[in-house]
Amino acid sequence: MYTIADISGILVPTRSIVIAADAIIQSLIYDTRKIVNAETGLFFALINRRDGHQYIKDAYLKGVRNFVLQEDMQQEFALPDANILWVSDTFLALQSLAAYQRSKFKFPVLGITGSNGKTIVKEWLYQLMSPDYKIYRSPKSYNSQLGVALSLWELNDQYNFAIIEAGISEVGEMAKLEQMIKPTHGLLTNIGIAHKSGFESKQEKIAEKLKLFTHAEALIYPQKYLENIYIPSQIYKFAWGEDESCQLEIYSVKRENDQSTLVSLCFSRQFFTVKIPFVDQASIENAISCIAVMISFGYDFKVIAARIALLQPMEMRLELKKGKQNSSIIDDSYSNDLVALQIALDFLKQQKQHQRKILILSDIPGVQLNDEKSITKLRRLIAESELTELIFVGPILSQLLSQFALPIKNYADTKSFIEDLKNIDYHDATVLIKGAREYHFEQISKRLVAKSHDTTLEINLNALEHNLNVYRSLLPAGVKLMAMVKAFSYGSGSFEIANLLQFNHVDYLTVAFADEGVDLRNGGITLPIVVMSPDESAFDAIVHNNLEPEIYSFRILASFLRYLEQHDLKNFPVHIKVDTGMHRLGFMPDEIDSLLDILKNQKAMKVQSVFSHLASAGNARDNQFTEKQITLLDAFTKKLQHELGYTFIRHIAATSGIDLWPSAYFDMVRLGIGLYGIDMDRADLPVQEVSVLKTNVTQIKFLPETETVGYNRAGKLSRPSRIATIKIGYADGYDRRFGNGIGKMSINGQLVATIGHICMDMCMLDVTDIDVQEEDEVIVYPDLKEAALAIGTIPYELLVNISQRVKRVYFYE
Ligand SMILES: *Cc1c(COP(=O)(O)O)cnc(C)c1O
Repeated sequence: MYTIADISGILVPTRSIVIAADAIIQSLIYDTRKIVNAETGLFFALINRRDGHQYIKDAYLKGVRNFVLQEDMQQEFALPDANILWVSDTFLALQSLAAYQRSKFKFPVLGITGSNGKTIVKEWLYQLMSPDYKIYRSPKSYNSQLGVALSLWELNDQYNFAIIEAGISEVGEMAKLEQMIKPTHGLLTNIGIAHKSGFESKQEKIAEKLKLFTHAEALIYPQKYLENIYIPSQIYKFAWGEDESCQLEIYSVKRENDQSTLVSLCFSRQFFTVKIPFVDQASIENAISCIAVMISFGYDFKVIAARIALLQPMEMRLELKKGKQNSSIIDDSYSNDLVALQIALDFLKQQKQHQRKILILSDIPGVQLNDEKSITKLRRLIAESELTELIFVGPILSQLLSQFALPIKNYADTKSFIEDLKNIDYHDATVLIKGAREYHFEQISKRLVAKSHDTTLEINLNALEHNLNVYRSLLPAGVKLMAMVKAFSYGSGSFEIANLLQFNHVDYLTVAFADEGVDLRNGGITLPIVVMSPDESAFDAIVHNNLEPEIYSFRILASFLRYLEQHDLKNFPVHIKVDTGMHRLGFMPDEIDSLLDILKNQKAMKVQSVFSHLASAGNARDNQFTEKQITLLDAFTKKLQHELGYTFIRHIAATSGIDLWPSAYFDMVRLGIGLYGIDMDRADLPVQEVSVLKTNVTQIKFLPETETVGYNRAGKLSRPSRIATIKIGYADGYDRRFGNGIGKMSINGQLVATIGHICMDMCMLDVTDIDVQEEDEVIVYPDLKEAALAIGTIPYELLVNISQRVKRVYFYE
């Protein structure tokens, strides 16, 4: 436990005001939306995409009284009664505090890095070694510069082993992580082939990753990735691989059946065999990494084999799904500790679609009745979480019921809860399911989630957030951002997406029709929402739900004005669309005087913004045309502002405009397709794929070359073939033009083509040349841009055509 005086001693501030030197600091705060324990929190004003100093006031009002601020930053808000430390760099200060915390512990710290598998290997090692060690592991994938610092802060003397994950995306980052983590042991999982931006070459990437192990005693790694790579001589090298020079030699790898693989190994001239309960390459590699770690910590082969045989696949992501009884289910049952619970509760707070919020929580491993500190933290987390009801499962929590002020049901174990499920009402609620692995809460989520067929659209909310920040980083300060969520957010979802955007402070949302806006209001969205096509029949809905219509013609202007005046409304916000060359909707530039006549002689509406749309921003051959559009909007809006006597927001750029036309930013940009991970103009922007359409192989059959496949016998075979049937067809939005080999899908990383016509609910794939089994996962669009090109359309159309009957699953890591 630290006092602010201790922390001042560690950070050595350039200047400070310490009013209460003995103030206790328990938690670190870097985001005022996530404050739980204000009085004992220390707020770091970090300068990331946003400047944390803007939130000092918010933090203060929420009760924070301890601050670390950056000395060269303006600070407008006085902080009476607060302890303040000024440092030259708040981020480095946070990291040095984490490094200090780490340095207090002498037990082994295993640092893990690699392109893939870090998180799963960390979780598996936790399972495999927990019987013998009290292991602390960094939560989820908290492996960034900030994530690692926060992870290390949670270390304490209840543990005697730590596993910390480190992830980097550019040169120079690993040295900083190493400074904090100081791993005594290192594990490299693998090195991906994908050449990612941020590194000049694969060599550079490897060299950077290895910096994590600069001061480690030992390094465990797959030999194939580090051949001919220099590793400092003082580090004990524990390589595994097929080569006999490896410390752990892999003799053979044999698939035993559909579920398991037998691996024969040799260590120190002793042979042993381990049954790995997986058949895919990645899981086998990950399991071998775990075996290597266990050997280097002195485990007996028999113990290793017995525990590896019990490994389980893990859902490591928090998932948001549609539940029965019109509920939303947040399924996060892969681990349960207080940090992971806090992350899940933060996510629950973002999702505002239902008033009722229920937490189903199991006992937390390691938290006993006498653990005052943890129980106090749990109580606070729950008290500050907007939950309305609790369901506790497990003997420890059952004895704590009186400590919580909410309605609670409680059960001794998962089985008795499931037996009582028919008596549980979760209508119109958001339900967070959070249980330790041994409670098998997946059995609960299975029962609460609405059933549907196998095809799902997985939506990665982290990627969406990441993409938002990629485009934000292009915008100068002060330019607002409107996110386009029309057409069900380009197919990806409604309030689920909008809640995340709202949490991330976008300035506006835009939908096509009033109905979509009403759905968002019902889903808890309070941001301003623009409706692009406001029909007369929708005026009631617009006004009652505080939606803001786009006004694009004299006809709609007159009828909306009439409506507002009849209802005696004043200053209703509207958005005027100007047609500068797209020739779709909008007032023509030469109509400005008549428009002004009307606007000046009324009080019912107020112009909130005036905008236009670029027709060809992504085509260099139309640059002059684009410039003309920008100039026209500029002139039009200047005159309008002058004549109306007030200012409004001006905007014209969509994704292509953001990419290529800084001169078109005006006061706001409208981000659409780029947010969803597709950028047609700039290959250098590190946008991430947001949605992945997946299904499974339903049936496989062997057919002689004389047979045909599907309707009209269009799929002609030319050789004895293996044909896989999958449950996606044109009713799901898989276009009929993908039939007969035009559509390519991916199974276990291998590309396959369709055969025969696409049916309504199914289609067939030729899988003769690949390794595949029934129930294997199929990625429908391995490359969305290429798929769109193959049938002569654009990615937008493929995304929005994915039918509503395809279940959406949202995940957040
Ligand atoms: C759809 C739309 C956008 C977004 O376009 P993207 O190319 O997806 O970024 C912007 N403005 C208007 C008026 C739109 O209709």
